[in-house]
Amino acid sequence: MVSIVIVSHSSGLAEGVRELASQMAQESDVRIAVAGGVDDAENPIGTDALKVHQAIEEVYSDDGVLVLMDLGSALLSAEMALEFLSEEQRANVKLCPAPLVEGAVAAVVQASVGASLDQVCAEAMGAMSAKQQQMPEPIVETADNDQMAAGDSEARLTIRNRLGLHARPAARFVATANRFEAAITVRKDQRSANAKSINQVATLGARQGDEIVVSAAGPDAADAVAQLEALVEDKFGEEEQELEARQPEPESAPTAPDVTEAGVLTGIPASPGIAIGPAVHYRQQLPEVHTRQVNDTSAEWQALLAAIKEAQSELQALQERVTSLGDKAEADIFDAHALILDDPDLLDAVRRHIFEEKLNAAAAWQQEIEDVAREYRAIEDDYMRARADDVLDAGRRVLRHLLDVGPGTFELEEPAIILAADLTPSDTAQFDPELVKGICTELGGATSHSAILARAYGIPAVVGIGQALQTLSEGQTLALDGQKGIVWVDPDADTLGDLQERRAEWEEREEKARAESQAPAVTRDGQRIEVAANIGGRRDADVALDYGAEGVGLFRTEFLFLDREEPPSEEEQFEVYSGVAAAMGQRPIIIRTLDVGGDKPLPYLPTGQEENPFLGWRGLRFCLDRPDIFMPQLRAILRAAHEHNVKLMLPMVSTLQEIRAARALLDDAKAQLREEDLPFDAEIAVGIMIEVPAAVSISDQLAQEVDFFSIGTNDLTQYVMAADRGNAQVAELAHALHPAVLRMVQQTVQAAHEAGIWVGMCGELAGNALATPLLIGLGLDELSMSAPSIPTVKKVIRNLEREQAREIAAAALKKESAADVEVYLQGLHA
Ligand code: PEP
Ligand code: MG
Repeated sequence: MVSIVIVSHSSGLAEGVRELASQMAQESDVRIAVAGGVDDAENPIGTDALKVHQAIEEVYSDDGVLVLMDLGSALLSAEMALEFLSEEQRANVKLCPAPLVEGAVAAVVQASVGASLDQVCAEAMGAMSAKQQQMPEPIVETADNDQMAAGDSEARLTIRNRLGLHARPAARFVATANRFEAAITVRKDQRSANAKSINQVATLGARQGDEIVVSAAGPDAADAVAQLEALVEDKFGEEEQELEARQPEPESAPTAPDVTEAGVLTGIPASPGIAIGPAVHYRQQLPEVHTRQVNDTSAEWQALLAAIKEAQSELQALQERVTSLGDKAEADIFDAHALILDDPDLLDAVRRHIFEEKLNAAAAWQQEIEDVAREYRAIEDDYMRARADDVLDAGRRVLRHLLDVGPGTFELEEPAIILAADLTPSDTAQFDPELVKGICTELGGATSHSAILARAYGIPAVVGIGQALQTLSEGQTLALDGQKGIVWVDPDADTLGDLQERRAEWEEREEKARAESQAPAVTRDGQRIEVAANIGGRRDADVALDYGAEGVGLFRTEFLFLDREEPPSEEEQFEVYSGVAAAMGQRPIIIRTLDVGGDKPLPYLPTGQEENPFLGWRGLRFCLDRPDIFMPQLRAILRAAHEHNVKLMLPMVSTLQEIRAARALLDDAKAQLREEDLPFDAEIAVGIMIEVPAAVSISDQLAQEVDFFSIGTNDLTQYVMAADRGNAQVAELAHALHPAVLRMVQQTVQAAHEAGIWVGMCGELAGNALATPLLIGLGLDELSMSAPSIPTVKKVIRNLEREQAREIAAAALKKESAADVEVYLQGLHA
């Protein structure tokens, strides 16, 4: 039986036509598929050849498939979709120029009686006649006149934006061209490109001052040329300086946007220390792709299309994330990646490899991706040459899905400084500190979890540097100061000498502090402050001890849950928790229950698409709703606490009821263990993190319900200041030394002490030695931090008098800004 495909610019219209046509042939088995709109939430109107192809595949039958389209680019998309089919399939698919609604109804009815493909098409074509006969006036002539009037169109345009038709402008140019039905070409000198192909347009290498000729043929040609002209005139929406005289030599290609004249980049200090080394762009390696001959070419093609689709959704998610961080220009890069994957010329070439040469999809795809990357590399423009990486990145993303392999590994052979757009905690977790000497990222904030890990590993890091990182070449010498947030590009001999000297001094200081790190931290007037480590797993426990940790003040258990296909079992968790406890001897260990969500999503525990994940379903909120995940963890912690000094801590607490609900589950877990005769600690201490302003506000009430508090300044700061901890744009605002945050700390400490419980701090502020006098002055009983900070913080404590610390705290609380507090504290050191 013939099947029907309905193609429309609007998914609503396509679905509506399907509904109507199915109603008309209710009892029939005619299969109808739709390809409506495009997957772009902001501009959903349009057509997509891939979707049309998928719709054809969905209902494909050797009896035939009739494709009905609405207008304009729907025809082009349908034609392109035919290209994706094998020759045998193509012979059984017919594009039918019948009117969409009437045609679809007539076609379904005709198909339902078993008519041939030609008969179904003829019936659809004649579908208007009934309506025409019924109308008193004949319908006005067809649109042929319009088509005649449109004609061809051409414009000579001068590229005016500073960096020329580089990735983002090329992406906008191609996206605009794709909105039109007309065939559009763009010429520069002797080279001509399909204006709808990102790779062809970008590899023209058009730079500021170049002239391009845009020609269009088809019904909407004039409109297409006018819109492309407007885009070029508007410098692609980039706010840039006026057109300057064309620079004659390729060597004088524009400098990177954020590199200052002295070759210095600035960002956010994220992990202290000085590093010098060659730059290496962070790129995960993939397994080798083997070339094979295949029989089922259609299956290969389908697999490729599915992989492209998955890569596209990843890119969309990335783009949304970066846009939400306020970096529109950076987000546009992902648009360019998405267009690369959709490039009709690229897809056509891959299709030919698969169907004509019978190559496996992975080999065909890789071959073409590498060819395109080579074309980019041949451009006489540093910036555009570097775009070859975008092509490879986008291409690898597809390969990863095609080969069904994880995110891939990253291996360094020589020590280097890693450059990346952004790093997830799992990316950073796999770094070997012996080889990764430093980290620079375009995005991110100082308390993002990857920055926290960098500090834990003692790797100097500068984050939030911006797009300038993209212009750095592989192997270029870099030096970075993670304390000040500065990166030197190709530093001269004097700068290098100076930095090496400072690094030696810093290492000497660290070494000295470390030599005394095993001794306790007691103030001059005799108060002992417990200094503990924040850890994420078993291996961190040994490092913590090495740095003089007196316990674990925060065990971030979520790292056990990352990078895997399913949550760890109770047994597996028990092994890890008791392994850490055994390693730490009788020292206290605070195990925090799962704190996923925010910047730590878990692929197998989707929390859904959230507008504001940091304000969403994370931490304890998530666990209380998912006892299937929470109970095994509670049981594992209770069991590990047997004969060990283990305490339990709940994250993201906002209300009393949350604590009570968690305690009720804990009681259930105890009852189960008792029943099962498994040993556990019935008296386990239970504490909470204070990291939500609501918790500070009711800290006196919360203190009645728990055994201790630990202040999480990373989250507390972002919520108090309403400034995302991972957003470089608002990093200045998200500063834990702001008096607004410090006053919250003061209020929490007072409430805890009045209720007779102890209070610690495990946010990153606890490891900032500059702030140590202030924190002791505020009355904190325990400080927990990345292990490498322990020796220095202990040293500062040993030099303190409590009374003097209280005066420092009182003065800091009265300052007017975070910067004022910082300057004040620095003054104390001078
Ligand atoms: C905090 O928010 O300060 C904290 C320690 O928890 P995390 O950084 O894991 O969110
Ligand atoms: Mg937190």
